[in-house]
Amino acid sequence: MGEQDLIAVTAPSAPQGPPVLPIQVTKAFLPPFAEYSAWLGKAYGTAVLTNNGPIHRDLEEALRHRFDVPYLRLMSNGTLAIQLAIRALGVKGKVITTPYSYVATTSAILWEGCDPVFVDVDRDTCCIDPALIEAAITPDTTAILATHVYGIPCDVEAIDTIARKHGLKVIYDAAHAFDVTWKGRSILQWGDASTLSFHATKLFHTVEGGAVVLHEHGSDDRLRLLRSFGHIGDEHYALGMNAKMSEVHAAMGMAILPHMPYILERRRAIVEAYDRSTHGMVARPRIPEGTGYNHAYYPVFLNDEQERELVLKEMAARGINCRRYFYPSLDTLPYVSGMSCPVSRSLSNRVLCLPLYPDLTDEQVLRIADALLSILQAYRGAGC
Ligand SMILES: *Cc1c(COP(=O)(O)O)cnc(C)c1O
Repeated sequence: MGEQDLIAVTAPSAPQGPPVLPIQVTKAFLPPFAEYSAWLGKAYGTAVLTNNGPIHRDLEEALRHRFDVPYLRLMSNGTLAIQLAIRALGVKGKVITTPYSYVATTSAILWEGCDPVFVDVDRDTCCIDPALIEAAITPDTTAILATHVYGIPCDVEAIDTIARKHGLKVIYDAAHAFDVTWKGRSILQWGDASTLSFHATKLFHTVEGGAVVLHEHGSDDRLRLLRSFGHIGDEHYALGMNAKMSEVHAAMGMAILPHMPYILERRRAIVEAYDRSTHGMVARPRIPEGTGYNHAYYPVFLNDEQERELVLKEMAARGINCRRYFYPSLDTLPYVSGMSCPVSRSLSNRVLCLPLYPDLTDEQVLRIADALLSILQAYRGAGC
């Protein structure tokens, strides 16, 4: 028995090397630990941990300048950002909204005691279809809450015209729209308010967190009051909430900001590699001309729900976890009723988001694209 044989005999029981972890749809960006800890060191030095501390103020100012907006307030998360924006603007009654978004867009409306009225989306941009908004307006309608889904800008000009004509407030759920521009300016400059989410899975994050952008002094004053229990000192002015961001969370944001050019560039490169290797096989949303895009997600649309479910399952079998962003269509939630948005339902039934985060290697990107193509070729080639 030679040495080769011994190895061959013992190999099957020996470990096969490190286990290959599945590729997730997203992975939080983490700055070098030393950089995060330098920011944390400031909080340790002052023992100011929350309540509008110095790091919080630094981050608010940095973001306000970045987006060139008059008022930007940090929040504990992106869901409370929507809720408090609704409240700060005095929105009540019926709110026209998109069925094609994350569930928090709808739940925020309901938690604020308002009624969501779903208006279907444009099949190319996946954003609310302005041509359908006016027919849904009634005397009880007070606002439009639309999502720049995947960071794709809504038709802000058309929405603005409708809102002015009918005296409606406009709130944009801009949870996906960090650093997106429209005609050269931040998309956050549109509407009466825009809300951001800085959850760990988002393009820019503070672990948990969010922000509200406002354009008018009075609503900003109300928002700050609402964010912090509704009182200043011992004077109580309004029913408030605790929606503050801590110094520990703001520190993560400050540590990530210098890495934004790398994050955006790496995402762009991955998206281009996906585009090159999958073109023609899957439908993709249209990014309107005039958009400075952030490549927040890589959604693809399959031919039908059956094909989508098969691709989801087969990709997972290859260690690639895609996600059905966004599913289900929000007009099908069990706690809303009476509306049906066929375009949104069709998109929800056919969509799959491919993994997209800066740490993905070029080799992984090609593996993901190859897996998608071979699954589709096998399935479609079989005449299904
Ligand atoms: C993530 C997200 C939210 C909620 O943000 P959280 O910070 O997780 O509360 C709201 N709307 C959309 C569209 C989102 O993707």
